[in-house]
Amino acid sequence: MIQLKIYNTLTRKKEDFAPLKAGQAGMYSCGPTVYKPAHIGNLRAYVFMDELRRILEYCGYRVKSVMNITDVGHLVSDGDDGEDKMNKSATETGKTPLEIASAITDRFLNDVDALNIKRPTLMPKATDNIAEMIAVVQALLDSGYAYQTDDGIYFSVEKFAGYGKLSGVKLQDQRHGARVEVNSFKRHPIDFALWKKAAPNHLQQWDSPWGKGFPGWHIECTAMSKKYLGETFDIHTGGVDHIPIHHENEIAQAECWLGHKAVNYWMHCEFMLIDGGKMSKSLGNDYTVADVTARGYTPMELRYLYLNVQYRQKLNFTWDIMDSAKSAYGKLCAQLLAHKNSPQHTEQTVLDGYKQKFEQAITDDLNVPLALGVLWTMVKEPKSADIYKLALQFDKVFALNFDKLIAPQTRQIQIPDDVRAAAELRLAARREKNWAESDRLRNEILKMGYNVKDTKDGYELTAK
Ligand code: AMP
Ligand code: ZN
Repeated sequence: MIQLKIYNTLTRKKEDFAPLKAGQAGMYSCGPTVYKPAHIGNLRAYVFMDELRRILEYCGYRVKSVMNITDVGHLVSDGDDGEDKMNKSATETGKTPLEIASAITDRFLNDVDALNIKRPTLMPKATDNIAEMIAVVQALLDSGYAYQTDDGIYFSVEKFAGYGKLSGVKLQDQRHGARVEVNSFKRHPIDFALWKKAAPNHLQQWDSPWGKGFPGWHIECTAMSKKYLGETFDIHTGGVDHIPIHHENEIAQAECWLGHKAVNYWMHCEFMLIDGGKMSKSLGNDYTVADVTARGYTPMELRYLYLNVQYRQKLNFTWDIMDSAKSAYGKLCAQLLAHKNSPQHTEQTVLDGYKQKFEQAITDDLNVPLALGVLWTMVKEPKSADIYKLALQFDKVFALNFDKLIAPQTRQIQIPDDVRAAAELRLAARREKNWAESDRLRNEILKMGYNVKDTKDGYELTAK
C-alpha cells in the first residue's frame, strides 16, 4: 500500500489518508442534476473524482465509488428558493421529467466514457430512493431536529452545534446578515428544506406522512451515501460551490440523524473559469464536450488540459489554452510512440527514479500536473521501450490512452469535403505562384473554421 496525502476541507490540512477498512476506500461524489447537459466545468469535477479514484487504486486500494444522479429536488437557488430544476425544464420543453432525466443521463455517460472517467461502481438515482429519504426526514422530526411548516419539513440549524464547521459560516452572521432574506415560515433564515410540499401541478411528487411532496436536494445525498457506503465512509467529493450550503447541510442532518460523524475526508475541486469569468448560459460560454469536439479537439486533449492544473487551483479555460493542450498532447504522444518503437533499453535505476518521483507527485494531494512534468522529463531520455512501458503504468492514473497511440499522420480529423476542395484549389494556385488566389482561398478556409498550413508535401488542415 502506498501512503497518500489528501487535503481535507474540514480540517483545512493535508492529511495522511487512513481508510476505515484496511485496503478499501469508499467514496461518494455529488453527481449531475440531469436537467441540462453537463458543461466542461461540471466535468472538471468528475475528472477530479476520477483522478482520486485512480490514484487510490494505484496506491493499492479497492475502491467503491458512488455517484448519485439528481433527478428531483435541486432548486434553482441551491437552497430552498426557486423552482425545481427538473420541473422547470420539463414545463419549458413539454417533456416529462423522466424523459429529460433519461436523455441527459445518457448524454452524461457518453461524456464520461469519452473522457475516460471510470464509471462509478454505483450510480443511484434520487427518484429510486424516496422511501429512504422519507425515513431520514421522519427520524429527524422524531428527534426534534426538524419541524413542519405550511410549505414542508425544515431542518433547524440552531439544533446542531457544529453548523458551519466545513465552511466557517456563523449562524449569528446569517441571521443578521443583509444577504439572507428572512422567510416568515423558517425559524432561522438558513434552516433548509428536507421535504417540500408539492402544488397539484408539480410534476414530480410522492406520498409521504406529510402529504404529497418531493425531497430536498441535500437529504438525497445523506440517504444514498448511508445506504450504499454505510454510516461512516471515507471520502466525500464535490465542487467548491457545495461547501457552504449543500455539504454543510449534509453534515448537519447526517450527524444529527446518526449521532456521529458520517464522512472522514471532504475533498473539493476548484472551479473552471472561462476567459477569467463565470461560465454561463446567457454569455453562451457554458461549453459542452460536444462544443469542444465540434471545434476539432479530441476528448483526450480536453482531459490533458484538465490534468495540467491541480484540482485545488482554479482552471481558466480559453481556446488558446485548448490549442496549447492539443499541441502538447500531440507532442507527448509522438515522443511516446518513438519510445514504443525503439529496440533499446533503459537502466532499471533510471526507471526507478522516475517512478519514485511520479509517486511522490500523485500522493502529494493529487499533484497530477507535477506527475505530468515527470513524464515530460522522462520522454526526453534516449528512446527505449522500457520508458514506454513505464509510461503505460503512469497512464493508469492519467488515463490519456497511451496504450492506443497512433502515428500523427493517421490522427487526422475528418475534414469536410468543401474545405478539402478549397485546400486543393489553393495548393494548385500556389504551384502556379498565384499568391493572391492562394490568400483568398486561405481566408475562405478560415471562414469555414479551418487553418491551413503549408508543408513540404502539400498542406495540413486543422480545426480553428
Ligand atoms: P450540478 O449538476 O450543478 O449539481 O453540478 C455538478 C458538479 O459540477 C458539482 O460538483 C459542482 O460543484 C461542479 N461544478 C459546477 N460548476 C463548475 C465549474 N465551473 N467548475 C468546476 N466544477 C463545477
Ligand atoms: Zn450531494
